[in-house]
Amino acid sequence: MRLIIMGPPGAGKGTQAKYIAEHFEIPAISTGDIFRANVSQGTELGIEAQRYMDSGEYVPDTVTNRMVRNRIGEADAGNGFLLDGYPRTLAQVEELDDMIKDTGHALDAVVVLTVDQDEVVDRLLQRAETEGRADDTADVIRRRQEIYAEETAPLIEVYRGRDLIIEVDGLGEIDEVTQRIFAALDVVPQS
Ligand code: ADP
Repeated sequence: MRLIIMGPPGAGKGTQAKYIAEHFEIPAISTGDIFRANVSQGTELGIEAQRYMDSGEYVPDTVTNRMVRNRIGEADAGNGFLLDGYPRTLAQVEELDDMIKDTGHALDAVVVLTVDQDEVVDRLLQRAETEGRADDTADVIRRRQEIYAEETAPLIEVYRGRDLIIEVDGLGEIDEVTQRIFAALDVVPQS
């Protein structure tokens, strides 16, 4: 199973990604998590990524693409994976197509979590209190939303054109949303 989960910042992608990945026994690969781990370990990649992340900008495609290609090439991703936070630009879509082609498989579905913008800002500000993410401040959240609308939301139409989009209402209890996603994915044939 090769899946993508998409949605605006705060839609609950990371939370749902965990449950979907467990269910299908595939790794959930979150570019945001990989970047954050590198930032906290002070690696070269982390140092490069941090200045973009702190202001809500996207890390350059060349950096992100190389990182994802390496991660997808690891043994645990051989049977599939769920990407959370990638692709985010049209250039990343093309790069991912290429990576998946190299594995001899195809993308099975793109889950899009839909949410109300205002509801999401509240969620993110709450998360800021518990997780303390540097980019969960009101200003940076607004910038992340803008960039999502400009750069990433258009990808939904690209994947809709390929008949891969599964739209799921992301509002409600975590468990309810998970059940909605499973119900929607149940009908997807696996390649
Ligand atoms: P959210 O979806 O809540 O904004 P993420 O954890 O997915 O948070 O991403 C945090 C930050 O990491 C982004 O704002 C961006 O700077 C960087 N990032 C993550 N994924 C990508 C990507 N695919 N391309 C470029 N930058 C990325």
